[in-house]
Amino acid sequence: MAKVIIIGGGPAGMMAALRAAKNQNEVFLIEKNKNLGKKLLITGKGRCNLTNYSDLNNHIKNIVDQPEFMYSSLAEFDAYRLYYFFEGLGLKLKIERGDRVFPKSNRSQSVLRVLQKELYKNEVKIITDQVIEILTEAQTAVGVKLKFGGQLKADKIILAAGGASYPQTGSDGSGFKLAKALGHQITKPEPGLCGLKTKNKLIYEAESLKLKYIELKLLKNEKEIYSVFGDLNIREDYLDGPLVISASMFIDQNPADYQLEIDLKPALDYQSLDQRILRDFEKYANKFFANSLGDLLPQKLIPVIIKSSSIAYNKTVNQITAAEREELLSLLKSFKIEIKAKKGFKRSIVTRGGVNTAEINPKTLASKLIENLYFAGEVIDVAALTGGYNLQIAFATGYKAGSN
Ligand SMILES: Cc1cc2nc3c(=O)[nH]c(=O)nc-3n(C[C@H](O)[C@H](O)[C@H](O)COP(=O)(O)OP(=O)(O)OC[C@H]3O[C@@H](n4cnc5c(N)ncnc54)[C@H](O)[C@@H]3O)c2cc1C
Repeated sequence: MAKVIIIGGGPAGMMAALRAAKNQNEVFLIEKNKNLGKKLLITGKGRCNLTNYSDLNNHIKNIVDQPEFMYSSLAEFDAYRLYYFFEGLGLKLKIERGDRVFPKSNRSQSVLRVLQKELYKNEVKIITDQVIEILTEAQTAVGVKLKFGGQLKADKIILAAGGASYPQTGSDGSGFKLAKALGHQITKPEPGLCGLKTKNKLIYEAESLKLKYIELKLLKNEKEIYSVFGDLNIREDYLDGPLVISASMFIDQNPADYQLEIDLKPALDYQSLDQRILRDFEKYANKFFANSLGDLLPQKLIPVIIKSSSIAYNKTVNQITAAEREELLSLLKSFKIEIKAKKGFKRSIVTRGGVNTAEINPKTLASKLIENLYFAGEVIDVAALTGGYNLQIAFATGYKAGSN
């Protein structure tokens, strides 16, 4: 019977603990918060989108950073296995739009509850303390040093301390420090799945507007690199919503090199939109330009579009030239916004970067540098788009590290 220490009581750590305990080991799960799974509880707006009910290839497609590293873990524990694993623990699940899996209760608390019950059943010992150092002898992990509880020896250690996003949940980047102290390279942590701040302040005049059914393109130095359809939220001083947070995953170190291009009317091509504008202009021929756009745009957006154009708001519609109409058309079809920065870690859903995957064996999740040390979850430099893919990564790597 080996003694196994798992650092971090998030989804990756809890799954690792369960697997290690099933293999007849003595397992210690160390969590620095008073309770396990603090971040898990806020996932999916408190409903926990725990995986995506789709095959391995679809999961790999939705992993943005190091998808190839995840093949082995996902092949062993894919979304279907995860689904039946939880149903086997008595948790009723449902599949929603886009194959997103949620508990039928709509409460993340019920996911945590079944995991905790299973940890208890498998006699996993939970210690609430903070690991401040992983102890090694001759490049072999032998135990941990705790903030309050002294030292604890072990035969194997799994580092599952999460990333650096939403630090108030406990994942404050301390896992990166623990790995770095042992010589592991840490790919620079960056906020992922986050809002974006823009150089154009004008857009914020439409604060609290939700733009629905638009197309968003992400451009790097004017070249398109990503595009999506859906909703975008305009906040006080940043943009977010599903489209923006997905786009944020394709922005590297220099956000200022990127632009967003919004098609406010993706269902109409240029010609159809031009016809539509002409009809509106006929209807409102004697009104001011500012009063002619109400059928086409949400009220809050009208001043933004007018100020972005060179057309005076008080020009009467029948005086608008063809060139000016053309300008309006291109604003509606390709409204450009320069990006300034990503919103920080405080409100980013995932952390990009982390323990360099080149130094981890993908088949076992063992460190290539330190004997008897393993990794699981977001502490590894792997991150995916929204849809349940990130929790699947956490559970699948937890499963693999725990099995080994
Ligand atoms: C608002 C929000 C919503 C999300 N919604 C979804 C969703 O619906 N679906 C999805 O797939 N993903 C979602 N995610 C992402 C998902 O939560 C993470 O990918 C996942 O929690 C990572 O699991 P983990 O176990 O690796 O890390 P974490 O969940 O971060 O757990 C790590 C744990 O380690 C503990 N710890 C850290 N350092 C130490 C230390 N030195 N000693 C002891 N303990 C330590 C921390 O306190 C923490 O409890 C969401 C994230 C956020 C922030």
